[in-house]
Amino acid sequence: MSGVDRKIIIDDTTLRDGEQTAGVVFSLAERKRIARMLDEIGVGELECGIPAMGRDEQRAVRALVDLGLSARLITWNRAVPADIQASLDCGVRAVDISISVSDIHIRHKLGKDRSWVREQLKTALGFAKAHDLYVSVGGEDASRAELDFMVELMDIARDMGADRFRFCDTLGLLDPFSLFEMVKYLVDRVDLPLEVHTHNDLGMATANAVAGFRAGATFVNTTVNGLGERAGNAALEEVVMALKHACGIDTGIDTRRLVEVSNLVGRASRRPVPEWKAVVGERVFSHESGLHADGVLKNPLNYEGFDPAEVGLTRHLVLGKHSGSHGLLHRLRDLGIELDPLEVQDVLGRVRSISQRNKRSLTDAELMTLTRGYRRVA
Ligand SMILES: [Zn+2]
Repeated sequence: MSGVDRKIIIDDTTLRDGEQTAGVVFSLAERKRIARMLDEIGVGELECGIPAMGRDEQRAVRALVDLGLSARLITWNRAVPADIQASLDCGVRAVDISISVSDIHIRHKLGKDRSWVREQLKTALGFAKAHDLYVSVGGEDASRAELDFMVELMDIARDMGADRFRFCDTLGLLDPFSLFEMVKYLVDRVDLPLEVHTHNDLGMATANAVAGFRAGATFVNTTVNGLGERAGNAALEEVVMALKHACGIDTGIDTRRLVEVSNLVGRASRRPVPEWKAVVGERVFSHESGLHADGVLKNPLNYEGFDPAEVGLTRHLVLGKHSGSHGLLHRLRDLGIELDPLEVQDVLGRVRSISQRNKRSLTDAELMTLTRGYRRVA
């Protein structure tokens, strides 16, 4: 397996690309709280804003700098010295310098050509390096760019002292296999650390982030809950757990607080986390079907890929249409009710029909009503 021994740094961009989501605004207090929590759980780098946006944004970035976090703070900048100057004024020591690298963007967004892009990169990078900044050169729309043009830009970046290159699947168009091949092509040709920035338009942001890592990238961009432009970015909690359980990579992040972070960002973004959301959804460790509930009661490893406590969740054994007698007996015993085998079949039949009628599982109160008159043991 490629890259198992490599170190990986998560650059979380909840405070930049996450807040860039249409309709999402964080207050300064929320930004500070989110930054502090991400820092506490061990996220190595936080992309924290776009100082060129103006005074409010600059004040917010400055406030984050003043927190004195262990995580490196990095800002997003267009490839123009004025943007980088705004970042310098906020006190950050690391910048992402973003430049369009696909011909579609160069022609139809910028109205320029490739040689303009080369010169613009040199000017901006030269300015940043003259101020001794740590620089990630962000290749916007890299997924639609010609690979050899990117190699050329990466060579320029490396020669001028850039610290890494960000491969952006800006529109979320790639599948993990194509992204793997593209990133590998670049890794094999240029000696410059690579970062992957993936979007979820086709539901593959997390898979693409993992593919980027497998191909040799050492930095991965994420956002909490996958918040971000359009369908969002690779979700921090998914990437961390996928790296851990699918790739055997410890990111050094304290996963037990992932649900706490997810809830905080869910509230601040006013985008509540769906209860079935991968990794952090409140009810993802719910078991109802007879076979699964029975398996989990025998040993959770039978039907849980990891312990819910690992991310700060709890297990729910739910009684409803698909329940079996083992799960029912177990739940009733917890409620202090002991039934004999005949009674169990009777109650189970009623549990199933009530669930069918109400299109949901049963509450404990409903179970108590249903079993009124049966023996209480506790
Ligand atoms: Zn993005």
